[in-house]
Amino acid sequence: MKISFRPANERDPGPEEAEELFEKAVEKWGTEPQLRMVQEEAAELIAEINRYLRQRTNDLDLAEEVADVLIMATQVAHILDQKHPGLVDRMIGHKLTRLKNLVDPPE
Ligand SMILES: [Mg+2]
Repeated sequence: MKISFRPANERDPGPEEAEELFEKAVEKWGTEPQLRMVQEEAAELIAEINRYLRQRTNDLDLAEEVADVLIMATQVAHILDQKHPGLVDRMIGHKLTRLKNLVDPPE
């Protein structure tokens, strides 16, 4: 499972290094703490979206919470990929095909 993003500058880890970091994070903290961290970050994003919709926050703070969730969700994908190689990739493909059919229905 590869994370896809463009590093904003040369100092930041790129996609390959990010993958190594995910492996090290799971080795260091274990699966359950990482899953709990995803829950925590998802909850923070939900709260931030509520603030955003009430104009109580800004694009920068929303972007921070989006980044947290993307990073942690990708770690969960990485954990699942160890048990079931390609499963999340197949699921993403399935979901994107469904979205494509909704956005641009076949005639
Ligand atoms: Mg957060």
